[in-house]
Amino acid sequence: MQYDLPALSAAVLFLGAVLGLVFGSALGCLVRRMGRHESWLRGRSHCDACGHTLAPKDLVPVFSYVALHGRCRYCGAPIGAEAPVSEGVLGAVFAAVVWRFGLTLDTLEAFVLCCCLFCISLSDLETREIPDRFPVIAGISRAGFLLLEGAGWPGLWQSLRNGIILGGTVLLISLIMDQILKKESMGGGDIKLLFVLGLYFSLPECLLLLILACVSGLLLVPAVHRHGEVRIPFGPALSAAAVLTMLFGQQAVTWYLGLL
Ligand SMILES: [Zn+2]
Repeated sequence: MQYDLPALSAAVLFLGAVLGLVFGSALGCLVRRMGRHESWLRGRSHCDACGHTLAPKDLVPVFSYVALHGRCRYCGAPIGAEAPVSEGVLGAVFAAVVWRFGLTLDTLEAFVLCCCLFCISLSDLETREIPDRFPVIAGISRAGFLLLEGAGWPGLWQSLRNGIILGGTVLLISLIMDQILKKESMGGGDIKLLFVLGLYFSLPECLLLLILACVSGLLLVPAVHRHGEVRIPFGPALSAAAVLTMLFGQQAVTWYLGLL
């Protein structure tokens, strides 16, 4: 991923944010339907309380929620804030990506990764599972972009090596933890996700990602704390860490190495 960013107008950042909101809304709907084993494409969105089919004006990301004061237009039932909050997060992330990488291939690659991480986080929060298809898409996308950028076989190999090192190291640690705690410390889906994230980053960035994942995991515990059960949501924590590493990893590593 490259450094020099062209001067970007506020309009481009705004367009990035709007794109993020739109993808956040569409992907949020996709993940919810997947969780309920409904068809992805067929069937109109409807209110969970009254079943009324939602009109386009009810489906504008974030704005419909705010305009309707968080209630269904037809029956007045309260609507959860999860959808607008997650849409807003993806909008902000897309704007940050445009700010960081400008109008480049890197931005497109980052958009694909962010969309996969968004679906992974929502699935993990909703069903506590990470469907294989999202890490697989992220992995294939990485290979495709490496080839497009002309990294060739050496680039692919280096990426694969980093994935194996990151995924393998955490797998080893989690197996040892399983023995000590006498229960599963980390799910298989989390390990697979780590392997895929390793494909995207240099080894120093992978280390940074692990540190950030631990911090964000602990910060997210209160957010998913329900029914007295403490659970670290690794999917969202790893996703947050990956986005931060993507945006600031190179700078952080350069700064740290400068200190030594
Ligand atoms: Zn309703």
